[in-house]
Amino acid sequence: MSKCPECKKEIDHLHNIVTGWNTWNVTKDGQYEDEGFEGDGIINEYRCPECDATITSDEREALKFLNSETLLERESHNKKQNRFTFARRTT
Ligand SMILES: [Zn+2]
Repeated sequence: MSKCPECKKEIDHLHNIVTGWNTWNVTKDGQYEDEGFEGDGIINEYRCPECDATITSDEREALKFLNSETLLERESHNKKQNRFTFARRTT
């Protein structure tokens, strides 16, 4: 199972958060009929279902994350190491 880089919990799915609008047909007797959802492209993120941290906004990355146990952890570890190396060089 993949591990969230933020809360470190094991997760087997992500929440895909999409902004947009849902259209309903409303009749005179107050019945609602769903016309469907249309995304507005402003937010389309894949978030941890446990802590709500944004894992990625790219579907391919999200699927890669769910199919690879440590990929993102390794990437963020490498980023931290690079920052550290850079900081050392400048001081
Ligand atoms: Zn999390």
